Amino acid sequence: MSDSAVICVDGYRKVYGSLVAVANLSFQVPANSVLGLIGPNGAGKTTTLRAIAGIIPPTSGSISVSGFDLADDSIEAKRRLAYVPDDPRLFDSLTVWEHLDFVAQAYEVEDGEAKTEALLEEFELCEKRDTLGHELSRGMRQKVAICCGFLHEPAAILLDEPMTGLDPMAIRHFRESIASRAEQGAAVIISSHLLKEVEDLCTDLLILIRGEAQFTGSLEDAQRQFSDLESASLEEVFFRAMEE
Ligand code: ATP
Repeated sequence: MSDSAVICVDGYRKVYGSLVAVANLSFQVPANSVLGLIGPNGAGKTTTLRAIAGIIPPTSGSISVSGFDLADDSIEAKRRLAYVPDDPRLFDSLTVWEHLDFVAQAYEVEDGEAKTEALLEEFELCEKRDTLGHELSRGMRQKVAICCGFLHEPAAILLDEPMTGLDPMAIRHFRESIASRAEQGAAVIISSHLLKEVEDLCTDLLILIRGEAQFTGSLEDAQRQFSDLESASLEEVFFRAMEE
């Protein structure tokens, strides 16, 4: 593992019955970087993110976060990560504020109230602080889930289709907020089908096709590998990678 690797995936394989969902996947995500995880439906993106989050155990291989192995030291690894699923579920009978308070207590966040206030401000949720989970719109639930993930200032941030449901202004703010967390030292993975968003935000790229890494590296390297044009868009790169 390189010194600065926060997320380290080594030989990860996940098999469901006779289906190989992910085959022998290895990659690292250093601090201060944003990895775009892209691939067609069923490529194994969610399976990989859920494994790094410690939700589903690998069939084989090892995964660590900030040097803590998910299998041997799962509590320490989980303390240092946040996972926001593609369809976040909130508690129907807790308010927005109570969700964040719950997370603050679970993760023993120092200055939880001040950090909650700042997040509500950042994600334009101040007016909804006393609104119950089941009274929120799809996009607002997404924002609350993101705030809950960010509250304990995790070293590793795992986001599965985080832009779905956000309005254009919220997407812009969210992009800024991810970039600033990466700047402050976080290692971020974003899985998304919105290639333009991935292109604007990510420092590195992992293209997963049928459970196998088709490419790992920088966007510039992907452009060189899959296109003659250095200015090729990520969409072009993606379709070339699919053809190969
Ligand atoms: P999408 O872009 O559609 O969200 P994905 O890349 O996130 O797709 P995964 O959800 O990781 O794909 O699924 C990878 C493969 O594993 C698929 O073939 C899927 O059917 C299979 N799979 C996922 N979860 C299970 C499960 N619990 N049991 C059996 N097969 C599963």
